[in-house]
Amino acid sequence: MVSGFVVPGLEFLVFLKMTIRPNIINQYIPNIMKQNSRIILIRDDITKLNVDAIVNAANRKLAGGGGVDGAIHRAAGPELPEACRKLDGCPTGSAKLTSGFNLPAKYIIHAVGPVWRGGNSKESEILESCYKISLEIAVQNDVSSIAFPNISTGIYGFPKREAAEIAINTVSSFLEKSKQPTQVFFVCFDEDNYKLYYELLRNK
Ligand code: ADP
Repeated sequence: MVSGFVVPGLEFLVFLKMTIRPNIINQYIPNIMKQNSRIILIRDDITKLNVDAIVNAANRKLAGGGGVDGAIHRAAGPELPEACRKLDGCPTGSAKLTSGFNLPAKYIIHAVGPVWRGGNSKESEILESCYKISLEIAVQNDVSSIAFPNISTGIYGFPKREAAEIAINTVSSFLEKSKQPTQVFFVCFDEDNYKLYYELLRNK
């Protein structure tokens, strides 16, 4: 009679099999690491990350807004709008630095992405410039670890696949030429972007 018999040490496995549901397993998709582990893909809220700098998808007035910008402003606290006001805005395609205030991150790099206007208004070049200038600012400020959201792919309407290709290619070519930053996180919040980045990075 073997029913009810559990091999010592395997109780945990039986427990796992009974309790894991597909949506939980989903969260354990391994994060992808590329470029000798310097590029890391994660699905998370960027405001929670303990990195040297997070990049904000900001607007030209640096006035705070919805989406990731709103989340960063809420988490950084009331000193952030004050610091942003002193910067006197930021041109599209460029970026500016502030302290991270109440965030775990030391700095916020506010990058102003392009609004999608159909693709003939230099949107791709402007988005590329956001990533490049953010990385240059990071190097100038001794930032070793930096986290990017999927700039312009929310309210600004940039097609997600094209934006992901630009982000990955721009960061990869920068890292080929520069020793810093040592870690670049692509932080996806929505599932579409996470799947796209996963596919593009896996096949790179
Ligand atoms: P944009 O105006 O540049 O399009 P959005 O904030 O609307 O900026 O969207 C940019 C991306 O940020 C979107 O892919 C959205 O899913 C993502 N996002 C929203 N909130 C967060 C967050 N807390 N952490 C990371 N990414 C976020």
